[in-house]
Amino acid sequence: MRINVLGVGFDNLTMDEAVDRGMELLHSPGTHYAATPNPEIVEVCRENLAARQAVNGADLVLPDGIGVVKGARMLGTPLKARLPGVEFAAGLMERMAAEGLSLYLLGAKPGVAESAGKRLAEKYPGLKIAGTHDGYFREDGPVIEAIRQSGADCVFVCLGAPKQELWMAKHGKATGARLLCGLGGSLDVFAGTVKRAPKFWTDHGLEWFYRLCSDPRRAKRMAKLPLFLLHVEKEKRRR
Ligand code: UDP
Repeated sequence: MRINVLGVGFDNLTMDEAVDRGMELLHSPGTHYAATPNPEIVEVCRENLAARQAVNGADLVLPDGIGVVKGARMLGTPLKARLPGVEFAAGLMERMAAEGLSLYLLGAKPGVAESAGKRLAEKYPGLKIAGTHDGYFREDGPVIEAIRQSGADCVFVCLGAPKQELWMAKHGKATGARLLCGLGGSLDVFAGTVKRAPKFWTDHGLEWFYRLCSDPRRAKRMAKLPLFLLHVEKEKRRR
């Protein structure tokens, strides 16, 4: 049972439950993928059917962003928690390391995935970095083949939304991995090129504001945030 926020269905889980579910998917036959939409992506999905289908087609849809949690509450169908993709990824890597599983890092500017890989291998002893590739490739074929050859159990796909969700829906199976996770700018965080907001800001639901202050170019994208709340308000009245 998913919680519907403006056409996107979110799994209603705590972080521990989400990581458990991720590990279950990693151990289930076939290929699965996870998406971590924020309000901005929900807004994209309202207008872009292919994006909406790719997001809703995920085996795990986690609310990344306080706005989604607020929206769900306003609609009278509260979600248990905000589940930032970057924290979900950390929980998953801890468990993968304990089991000696392997991870492929795909996305971000040249060099970022590689340095993220080095830092993650140090931080999570036991985690195997199966390979890395930047996110600015022209042809999908060689990238899919590289992932397949690496034999990775899991792939972090960090191409930005909705590109990463469309990519996972279309090519996930061909990579041969068990689980792909669409994680936006997470590789930049893992590589240390982008800092996450300090705890005070995240605790108070202000991570979006911190990101806006540290990168004002995001202002245009973030203009979608009030629009999202407006649409939620309209939907509430309609229901
Ligand atoms: N990116 C990429 N290929 C592209 C476009 C973007 O690899 O064609 C990367 C970009 O370098 C960044 C990430 O995708 O590392 C998107 O980050 P953003 O902060 O926009 O994502 P968010 O976390 O807000 O979804």
